[in-house]
Amino acid sequence: MSRTLKLAVIPGDGIGPEVIAEAVKVLDIVVPSTDLVIEKTPFHLGVERFLETGDVLSEDDLAAISRHDAILLGAVGGKPGDPRIPAGIIERGLLLKLRFSLDHYVNLRPTTIFPGVVSPLAHPGTVDFVVVREGTEGPYVGNGGALRQGTPHEIANELSVNTAFGVERVVRYAFELAAKRERKKLTLVHKTNVLVNAGSLWSRIVDAVANEYPQVSVDYLHIDAATIFFVTDPARFDVIVTDNLFGDILTDLAAAISGGIGLAASGNINPTNAFPSMFEPVHGSAPDIAGQQKADPTAAILSVALLLEHFGYAEAAARVNDAVAADLSERGTTVRRTSDIGDAIVARLA
Ligand code: ATP
Ligand code: MG
Repeated sequence: MSRTLKLAVIPGDGIGPEVIAEAVKVLDIVVPSTDLVIEKTPFHLGVERFLETGDVLSEDDLAAISRHDAILLGAVGGKPGDPRIPAGIIERGLLLKLRFSLDHYVNLRPTTIFPGVVSPLAHPGTVDFVVVREGTEGPYVGNGGALRQGTPHEIANELSVNTAFGVERVVRYAFELAAKRERKKLTLVHKTNVLVNAGSLWSRIVDAVANEYPQVSVDYLHIDAATIFFVTDPARFDVIVTDNLFGDILTDLAAAISGGIGLAASGNINPTNAFPSMFEPVHGSAPDIAGQQKADPTAAILSVALLLEHFGYAEAAARVNDAVAADLSERGTTVRRTSDIGDAIVARLA
């Protein structure tokens, strides 16, 4: 008996299509070892589509994407400052609209320093942690506005929304994940001494859920202190749970200390499977290197491993991770073309 998985593929903009081509090659080589049959549907979304049609993501697109089991996304967004693209229209109208409409309340971002990969830190130690970033609330909800815009008295508000429901479900996910990991450690990152309302809610929920997980040790760091420890002692972290904005910033830092943005994978997950989860590299469309085969497809390939893991194919996911690890350890500092990296990883899996 085979199991069919309908996959919506959104290559997107810039280096998106280049890295997704390699990720799809890897998926195609590894899937025959499982009982999965993957039906892929490409979706032409992003800057080009917006410039052609004025559409970013229609209700029809959203409905069509929702009928899939999962989404593989490259990257979307144009050159910063492009006068044809209003600020945020692609990020808010496409990426955040997908995350919010499909209720991706867990944004999962693992960080490991693979053997052979050079970290900019002198003594990083053994780094293997996961950031569980809340994905549907915080200051990213688009709740706010500007008063007296364009005047010297302008007031711009961006409201951070934190609901008991939204915080509790992501905190529970983080505890569940910590309980399954070897070190069983959870760190809440926030700024409870200044953002006292949201901070209090997050702290109280973490304390309450902690009672159900006596095997998980819990600690707390302010976001500013967390950035210090990411650099001075990243090995101390196991599972980190944090809000949408802090998680965004912290995971770019995590990518930087673990070998670069070209290696950082992520999953936007709806753990209930009521909506398709979406797997994507942490990086953006990188217009500065697009079309030159300079992008590292590793992050997109590791996102495929996260996808396989999400659907219970841990062994297939481990094969992809191992092939990436072997490639990274052999790669050293040599610079290779996007497709050469993909081909080398595929060759190891074949
Ligand atoms: P976004 O807001 O969409 O996340 P960003 O402004 O953070 O975008 P990126 O597109 O992620 O920017 O690019 C940041 C830098 O990292 C650029 O210099 C880019 O060339 C580089 N970069 C991003 N992805 C890769 C990759 N896969 N391989 C190599 N370099 C990359
Ligand atoms: Mg970014």
